[in-house]
Amino acid sequence: MMNDQSLTPLHLEFLTSVVGEEHVSIKDSDLEQHSKDESFHDASRPAVVVWPGSAAEISSILRYANQQHLPVTPWGAGTSLEGNPIPLFGGIVLDTLRMDKIFQVRAEDFQVDVQPGLRYKEMNAALAKHGLFFAPDPGANASIGGMIANNAAGTRTLRYGTTKDNVLRLEVVLPSGEIIRTGTRSKKTSSGYDLVHLFIGSEGTLGVVTEATLRLAPLPEKFSAAIASFTTLEAATRVVSSIIGTGLTPAALEFLDPATVRAINATGEFELREYPTLLMEFHSATDAGLKEELKEVEILCKDGGCLSFDAGLGRSERDRLWRARHKTYDILVRSNPGSAYLIADVAVPVSEYSRLVAAADQALRERDLKGYLVGHAGDGNLHPLIPYTPGDSASYAIALAADEKIVETAIAMGGTATGEHGVGIGKRRFMILEHGSSLNTMRAIKATLDPNGILNPGKIFEPDEH
Ligand SMILES: Cc1cc2nc3c(=O)[nH]c(=O)nc-3n(C[C@H](O)[C@H](O)[C@H](O)COP(=O)(O)OP(=O)(O)OC[C@H]3O[C@@H](n4cnc5c(N)ncnc54)[C@H](O)[C@@H]3O)c2cc1C
Repeated sequence: MMNDQSLTPLHLEFLTSVVGEEHVSIKDSDLEQHSKDESFHDASRPAVVVWPGSAAEISSILRYANQQHLPVTPWGAGTSLEGNPIPLFGGIVLDTLRMDKIFQVRAEDFQVDVQPGLRYKEMNAALAKHGLFFAPDPGANASIGGMIANNAAGTRTLRYGTTKDNVLRLEVVLPSGEIIRTGTRSKKTSSGYDLVHLFIGSEGTLGVVTEATLRLAPLPEKFSAAIASFTTLEAATRVVSSIIGTGLTPAALEFLDPATVRAINATGEFELREYPTLLMEFHSATDAGLKEELKEVEILCKDGGCLSFDAGLGRSERDRLWRARHKTYDILVRSNPGSAYLIADVAVPVSEYSRLVAAADQALRERDLKGYLVGHAGDGNLHPLIPYTPGDSASYAIALAADEKIVETAIAMGGTATGEHGVGIGKRRFMILEHGSSLNTMRAIKATLDPNGILNPGKIFEPDEH
């Protein structure tokens, strides 16, 4: 059990000796800034924030914190949506901001070695000179360390995979202070336990990532986008599984319900049809390949009863559309200033997507909740935004009940409570339902690597489970 010991002058002196005075702060503004991510979860302040500059410094801090039983929570860009980096037990927040270097681009192998504090958008801007990019694209400008820790994904997962499909090698500092390197630069390996993927998605509870070798993709040469609108949720979502079922590989296939389209139109930048909508993007090496794929998708959409199918939008229109999709969360949250939102993140096999969307729609309607349904449909991932009034416990309880209903439905369909945002705080309560007795194996791994429970305590497992 982790000991929630508060910070003493001796602790501060030690931290200062490791990272230097200018990289340690107990200022109110810094503690406040590191008390909350982008989620609806309550803030919790750390006792101190440190900005280490190397794996060696992180190793010294973790070794010391382990001896002193001090909680340590790694921090990337703080853009999580499940409270993942909130320091629930106070202690030290370890912000990787200064560790933002690109060590080496190996264009011939489609690989890059980077530090964890690097933001993926800055990395991709640098990689563009080499004609390459890192495909996972969460809407916010997340850090590589945070993306690895949450196994982040995004609109392009359908074609390029999630973060876990694009990491080859990691350097990790364990809670004991030991620095390990795991994985190889080879595309394939069958060598022993797959520790790389143990750390990916572990939300900073097993170790601190200090370096990563990422797999890159060539920037697409030809691409096009298409928008299809449908009269019903069912028609739109059924087409999703027929597109995937025929083996077509759009780079992105996103679903928006009419309420979401209305909110996007209300920004004044768009005049989309206010119906259930699919946004699609296609990448290809040739114009002919692109045309063929678009044609097939158009036939599937028309067979599925679409109202309209607009394809082949130019580059600037396609960029504008995807900017709107990436800003959807902000647009929706801003559209109702009096409301806060629980953001669900369920994912199911794509053949169940239509039933999942129908169940989520019903869960909102039954409770008279004016929420939104938006998702990475091609991956079977849905984000219902469930409204509640902040400070009103009755309205929060109703939102929680809707969330629970949607998650239970997804799990019953063979899916998951969280497709990409991680367990953090909000999904802990579904872990037993989703994992059953294998949760004990997860607990055993945590106890082996972090016997004192110092790393990001209170996440993934309920706090009393440490
Ligand atoms: C508008 C908006 C849109 C979003 N869209 C998406 C989306 O489409 N897909 C998606 O997947 N997510 C999305 N997100 C969520 C978020 O961007 C991702 O979860 C992202 O991976 C968080 O990265 P971060 O750098 O902000 O990490 P943080 O929030 O700082 O931390 C995330 C977790 O990683 C741990 N951590 C951080 N650095 C390290 C490290 N070096 N070693 C070990 N653990 C570490 C933290 O302790 C925490 O548990 C969105 C968020 C917003 C605000």
